[in-house]
Amino acid sequence: MKAQNIIAAKRDGQELADSDIRQFVAGYTSGEIADYQMSAFLMAAYIRGLSFDETTSLTLAMIESGKVLDLSSIAATKVDKHSTGGIGDKTTLALVPMLAACGFIVPKMSGRGLGFTGGTVDKLESIPGFNTTLSLERFVKQLAEIGAAIAGQSSEITPADKMIYALRDVTATVDSIPLIAASIMSKKIACSGEVILLDVKVGSGAFMKTIERARELSNTMVAIGTNLNRRVGAVITDMSQPLGRAIGNALEMSEAIETLRGRGPADFTELCVELCAVLINLAEPDCNMTQAIDRARESLDSGVASAKFAEIVEAQGGDIRVLDDPSLLPQANIVHSVCSRSAGVVSRIDAAGIGEAASALGAGRQRKENGIDPAVGVLIEKKIGDTVKSGDVLAIIHGNDPTAVDCADKIIRRCYTVGAEANIPPLIVERI
Ligand code: URA
Repeated sequence: MKAQNIIAAKRDGQELADSDIRQFVAGYTSGEIADYQMSAFLMAAYIRGLSFDETTSLTLAMIESGKVLDLSSIAATKVDKHSTGGIGDKTTLALVPMLAACGFIVPKMSGRGLGFTGGTVDKLESIPGFNTTLSLERFVKQLAEIGAAIAGQSSEITPADKMIYALRDVTATVDSIPLIAASIMSKKIACSGEVILLDVKVGSGAFMKTIERARELSNTMVAIGTNLNRRVGAVITDMSQPLGRAIGNALEMSEAIETLRGRGPADFTELCVELCAVLINLAEPDCNMTQAIDRARESLDSGVASAKFAEIVEAQGGDIRVLDDPSLLPQANIVHSVCSRSAGVVSRIDAAGIGEAASALGAGRQRKENGIDPAVGVLIEKKIGDTVKSGDVLAIIHGNDPTAVDCADKIIRRCYTVGAEANIPPLIVERI
């Protein structure tokens, strides 16, 4: 079919054949199909939706646009996780070494963040010398040697997704469940994860604002992966308040290091243990959830996960001294406390607003080419359910620009509601 006929068929709500979708994506990757045609197709898909078969075809088409990581020479089970992201979400930094400590191979390719804070790659780059640009050969070699590698998304893997995502970003077509599901699952499958866990965040600080949408995205991704012979699970987790205490690249890195040493915030530690356990249980069904939770906790308590992280940092050229001395991470010049003007119980923290404050300080980027300031961010001192007295510190701002600190102070004040009582949201909302 000609490109315009494929676009017209989708515009009119018809279901496309597998060959049409594959031909369209291949044509776009090779340059035969123009940006404006792909944009029209994406808008038609956004409005009309894609059936499950169409979403699977799109996933396969994007996988076929590039290389698939060949990890067949490594015997152990390959596991991968993906989080849909949120404020203070530094889960990858702790979970990858925990999984490697449990004996799995963890090929983790991650992105740079757009928006509130940096992505995993930005957080890792706050460690002096840490190299996130690994060739596929070096990535595979490191996996064989130490069981884990965390690198930026390779342009050789799913290049069609990279091109399409850039278009979606500027054509208001990001927020579509089939397009998100195909984008995420194509990358996971091309990276050779045999067992894949999806951490789908729900709440004001997440992509998915409602449980219904989080469930639909989870079910779609699990079904795509299962259909393509992967073992896939999803956990819907809370993002109605920031995760852990730290928001901002070096601050989050420091919190992940502390968590690996058993000194992390309770909610973040609980999430890492839960996700690690669900992955163990998916990979080894004979290991029930109680045993899996014990294994996950043991990886932290024994120090093996922390030692594994040191191996990753060393292998990727980072300064391992930061593990003993986090003050070697970039530090902000201004440290400013936001204090409560009332007494009571914290009943709400607007997670998206805290992200906005971090972004105002320079922790995130609005465009891909923008830089970020690794040192800046926010430390949350009071979470939902905590009692506060007037004058108590709610949050601590780390900034380098007095005007931005002032702006962040005002935003953070608006994010907190101190009232008479609070409903503490459950961290693990649902397992799929
Ligand atoms: N993350 C992705 O990788 N793809 C999307 O479409 C949305 C979030």
